[in-house]
Amino acid sequence: MSRSYRDRGVVLRTHRLGETDRIVSLLLEGRGKVRAVAKGVRRPGSRIGARLEPFAHVDVALHEGRTLDVVQQVETVETNAPLRADDRLHAAASVMVELVDGVAVEGQRDLPLLRTLRAGLAALVADPTSAGVFVDAFLLRAASVVGFPVLTAACARCRAPGPHRRLSVVGGGTLCDDCAGDGTRLVDADVVDAVRLLGDAEQWQALPTLARERPDARATAGSYARAYVEHHLDRRLRSYDALSGTPGG
Ligand SMILES: [Zn+2]
Repeated sequence: MSRSYRDRGVVLRTHRLGETDRIVSLLLEGRGKVRAVAKGVRRPGSRIGARLEPFAHVDVALHEGRTLDVVQQVETVETNAPLRADDRLHAAASVMVELVDGVAVEGQRDLPLLRTLRAGLAALVADPTSAGVFVDAFLLRAASVVGFPVLTAACARCRAPGPHRRLSVVGGGTLCDDCAGDGTRLVDADVVDAVRLLGDAEQWQALPTLARERPDARATAGSYARAYVEHHLDRRLRSYDALSGTPGG
């Protein structure tokens, strides 16, 4: 028996379907990731269509369907319109939703992941000039939420208290001299601190300062964040290349 439900969340992606319809992927508070069809939304003047844009935070009414749920009503919570109006912001937000879309499991509730995504998108809207550092931070924070927290306070393998300065992607953070192999990279304390900041979910506001005042440490920590996510979450971040190709922080 099919029925209707109401939920709230973020539009991850949309795809065209036929002449006038669209398929949308949503990450919802109650239902987790849901794929739904929005009918007639590509006709001019469709109010639902205008609200169901990628990165938008929405309140939706859906009807359970046999294969895909059907969108019935959409109210905007946050348009996040700036993220669709600027190429660099669009690229940054795309990295975030691409990662979330990849790790979220359909029908499985994941509030921490949704919260992290909302915080990441909000940070981009609030301070567009810091898009690059926000994306790098988002990568480590999302990885942490899905079970791969980067460890910098202690050795990621034996838990010997830090600080350590051997930074390992595969090892999951910093390693002590005993645990680190010869191939483990020795970095400045500043880089370890930058990785710690990127990974700390409470620290969105400290990131622009990091990017401005310690650009080298931030850049090294950013490359580490990308490698970390690609290794532990086993996926290539295609949108990240588009972001790297645009100038600025
Ligand atoms: Zn160790």
